[in-house]
Amino acid sequence: MIQVNLAKGKEKPVKHHHSWVFSGAIAKVIGQANNGDIVRVNDNNGQFLAYGYYNQASKITVRLLSWSESETIDKDWWFEKIKKSIERRNEGIDFNTTDSYRLIFSEADELPGLIVDKFQDYLVCQFLTLGIDQRKQIIIDALVQILQPKGVYERSDAAARTLEGIAVSNGLLYGTIPNEPILIKENNLHFLVDVNEGQKSGYFLDQRENRAYLANFAKGKTVLDCFSYSGGFSLYAKNAGAKNVTSIDSSALAMETLRSNYEANQMAFASEQLIVADVFQYLRNANAENLHWDLIILDPPKLAPSRKSLPRAERAYKDLNMQALKLMKEGDLLATFSCSGSLTLEHFKQILAWAAVDAGKELQFIHEFGQPIDHPVRSAFPESFYLKGLLCRVIS
Ligand code: SAH
Repeated sequence: MIQVNLAKGKEKPVKHHHSWVFSGAIAKVIGQANNGDIVRVNDNNGQFLAYGYYNQASKITVRLLSWSESETIDKDWWFEKIKKSIERRNEGIDFNTTDSYRLIFSEADELPGLIVDKFQDYLVCQFLTLGIDQRKQIIIDALVQILQPKGVYERSDAAARTLEGIAVSNGLLYGTIPNEPILIKENNLHFLVDVNEGQKSGYFLDQRENRAYLANFAKGKTVLDCFSYSGGFSLYAKNAGAKNVTSIDSSALAMETLRSNYEANQMAFASEQLIVADVFQYLRNANAENLHWDLIILDPPKLAPSRKSLPRAERAYKDLNMQALKLMKEGDLLATFSCSGSLTLEHFKQILAWAAVDAGKELQFIHEFGQPIDHPVRSAFPESFYLKGLLCRVIS
């Protein structure tokens, strides 16, 4: 087996079970490694540390799979690892009320580069690295054997694959996928998911628990759901007895799906409260017109895709939250999220504190939102934490 010896002093993260070996940490490669090969990673003295797959075309040259010298990374190994990840989902989710959730979450499940989501009886996979891409068939075979899905579809994130030097790839891998969107069930609410056309994987599974938590505060309130997409938060609020719900998204397709989702749940809605608009602009106009809601939700897309873009994103988060807070009065609630991995929860709180000062409001943080049970954060891999949110009460 090809051996990768690390530079002196670079073994610590590997010893602590972090999943990545950057090119700069490698002292020498012993043997002719092909991209995608399983390699043995040693410290500078040649002592075993871990096994992983290799890709010279990526800045993350090795992604680690196992820290146990006696393991062999073969077909059976992948099968067992995939099975284990799926079995971890057997607790904490009520399958009577929810049929869609994440089965495999990449490094957090010690399967770097692999994401598998279950939507009703179908699976949507993301093969994000070359090492995973090369083992696609082994992975599909394992998924089919363990779960017997009706269909397996690939929707890999283009940007991640480009960093790995592999072509963008989408399409049906096994079975069938209906042409029509499928109707999934989440906490007994129904949502249409189009695995072919939708954004990301067609539905944001990571907000399930946060939607349910926030619904407890919606009864009798007027709600503004900003960046609503297909209406996750809107439908939960409506279902919990909100007085009315206004939803805003810049995507007309998302708004169409939201309308269909209300219909699929036989919920009444007012067409004029489904608004296709830029949220930043909408909130400014709402300020000019003195509009008011009791509960405002802000769930923007990733405003800081990288650490480099963080200062700019910080200003965008602050501006967005300030505009929302300016509309609010004593007793109102703001549920505000960030899915930027490079932004920490503490930093996000700081941004909210600045936004409050500039809006002339006093806030309480009454709840911290995070990731649901099927999107775990692995202690040795803090990068798996990306979704955070704050429930804020305006107290003056
Ligand atoms: N809250 C949603 C997920 C939001 S994802 C849910 O629970 O499912 C982010 C959404 O923001 C996307 O639907 C995208 O179309 C929308 N978006 C991005 N930029 C926007 C902008 N400037 N104004 C309004 N919507 C925007």
